[in-house]
This record gives sequence, C-alpha cells and structure tokens, in this order.
Amino acid sequence: MKKDNNEICNNIIGIPKAISYYNNYPFYFGFFKGLGFDILLSDKTTTKLINEGSNYVVSDTCLPIKVFVGHVVNLLEKGCNTIFIPSLQSTAYKVNNCTKIRGLPEIIRNVIDRPFKMIEPTLDKTNNIFFKDFCYDTAHQLDIFDENKIEVAIQYGWSIYNNFQQMTLAGIPFEDAIKYAIENKIVSKPIEIVKPLSVVIMAHGYNLFDERISMSLIKKLEKMGVKAYTGLNVSKQDAISSIEKLGEIQYWANELDLTGAAAYYMLNNKVDGIIALSAFGCGPDSLMVDEIQYHASEKGLPMMHLTIDEHTGEAGFITRVEAFVDMLIRRKRKILKDNNNIKRLPSSKREQTAKKDDKTVNFV
Ligand code: SF4
Repeated sequence: MKKDNNEICNNIIGIPKAISYYNNYPFYFGFFKGLGFDILLSDKTTTKLINEGSNYVVSDTCLPIKVFVGHVVNLLEKGCNTIFIPSLQSTAYKVNNCTKIRGLPEIIRNVIDRPFKMIEPTLDKTNNIFFKDFCYDTAHQLDIFDENKIEVAIQYGWSIYNNFQQMTLAGIPFEDAIKYAIENKIVSKPIEIVKPLSVVIMAHGYNLFDERISMSLIKKLEKMGVKAYTGLNVSKQDAISSIEKLGEIQYWANELDLTGAAAYYMLNNKVDGIIALSAFGCGPDSLMVDEIQYHASEKGLPMMHLTIDEHTGEAGFITRVEAFVDMLIRRKRKILKDNNNIKRLPSSKREQTAKKDDKTVNFV
C-alpha cells in the first residue's frame, strides 16, 4: 500500500546537500541510521535550484547560503517534513563559523514560510556545548531519549566518518569516499600516474565539492594534467601545525580546509601553485586568502584567487584557470631548465594553438 507523504516522512530526515553536508555527512549518515531514521538528501545543485534559493534571500547573501536555501526548498518539494538544519557556532574553543552558518536555522525560519519540523541542534564549543550535547540535542528533538541507543548511534556515526576520512587522506575523491564509507567499505586508491604539475585548492568543501558551484574545478584541472590537492588530503594535525608554522592562528571553523591546506602544501614545497576559490563577498575567506597570499608572495609561489557567485560564467572561469596553468607550465619549465633537469611537460594552451601552425615546436 502506498504511504502518504506525512507517514513516509515520520521515519525520514531530510538533509540539504549543502554547507555542513560537505564536512559531516558520513557522520550524519551513521548517526541517523543508528537512531532508526532513513535519510532523504536534496538533489544536486542546479541553476534552477540556485535561482529558487536566491528568490528567498536578499541579493548580497553569499552564494553558498542561497544554495542552502534552495536545497531546503527542494526537500520540501519532495514532501519531506523533517529537515536537519544545525546551528554550528564554534567547532573548537574560539574557532568560529561565520554568522550566516551560525544562524542558519534562524535564516531558514525567517525566509521560508512553510510548515515543517526543523531539527536544529547547536554546537558551540566556546560556550561548552560539545559534540555529545549536539548529538543528544538532535536525538531529543526527534523524541529519542534512550541513552544507549544514542550512544550506539554516535559510535556508528564515527565509524562511518573515520572510514571516510581514512580514504580521503589516502587520496580517494570526495564523492567516492562518501559512497564507499556509507556502504561500510574502505577501498584503497588505485596507483595514479604522477602528474607533471600540482596545485592546492584552498576552499570550503561546500564550494569545492559541489560541482555546480565549483564548475567541476578539480576535474577540469585533472584534464589539463594538473593534480589538485585539497583540505581533505591533509590531516587535522598537519593543517594546524602548518598554520602555526606560518605564525598564524586558527580562528575560522573551516580554516583547516583553506589556510591549513594551503600552508601545508606551501611549506612542504609539494605544489607548483595555489588556487583559492571563494564566494563573492565572503568576509572570512577574504581574510584567509589575504593571509596565504602574503606568505605565497614571500615564497614566490604563484597564487590565483577565483571568486564565484550565481552569475559567474563558465567560459570566463575556465579561461582564467587555463591562463594560470599555462603560466605554471612556463614557470616550471624554466626552473627545470635552470637546474638542467630536462623533463617533458604538457604543452600550455598557447603552445597548443601555436602547434597547429608549426609542427616543429619542441617542448623541454
Ligand atoms: S563562510 Fe563565507 S561563503 Fe561560507 S557561509 Fe559564511 S559568508 Fe558565506
């Protein structure tokens, strides 16, 4: 017998595929499963979904929040009536999220005037609201008070999350790591052909791993022969110690994915350049990008900053990435030549064009 929407949603929790999904979904998955819930995810981000979200908020709201609102609307349209929208205030003592992420439940309550149950636990380690409190608060809002059940769900959440983290640290791509982790599998990475160029991308997971927002930046770089490292490939300890080595402090909650990742690869001379990807008008990102820009210039490491909003066109975006990669190729070739280390590097975009006219072009 077909169930009606309300009955279905009594056992289902909706999770918007935006913001904290990109950091915490493996934990959320295990935790809610452990509590006896099925999970309904919103659909992939599309232009339509972004426009939908943008209609609810003032225009100078940053793109990731517009996207988040669009995902909540998407879940409501799927008939979901229980949606998880946490308030992540601080993730360690005095390590804060921006006001918009802190106030997500309030934003949604104020802009979406539709009936649904919002599960809105708070995490605020600065004010002694710890992760365990966050989990218990979530369970209580779902009318679950059995401590044993909650503890088992927390353990299950961590086991899925730890599998995910083990795979991403080993270099498994984000989407694959999520897929395998929730299937309770750990896979090892296939042997990879070493790419001649590499960059680190400093970006929030919700910007970088949402392929519509990042315009599949990682895949585009891979096609250009560039290996892209991200914050997921750096352990928390390495990211924190790299920030400290630069003489900086961790202030923002997502700092490890941005400053931490960039600092780690820069200090270990592991990359040929840095790409910062941030939302137009984002205050925290502009501070973190400036900080890294300063240290990158000191070390003479090329860096490019891409800002995105809902109007960013793919053609201009790709042109900038290609120009940056061309410059990295020419720079690396010169360094190799100066060191008498002759290696074959891929042709730059300009050279590929020249090659059509002159078949004798040789690349060092
Ligand atoms: S950190 Fe920046 S991009 Fe992210 S939600 Fe806050 S203002 Fe928007």
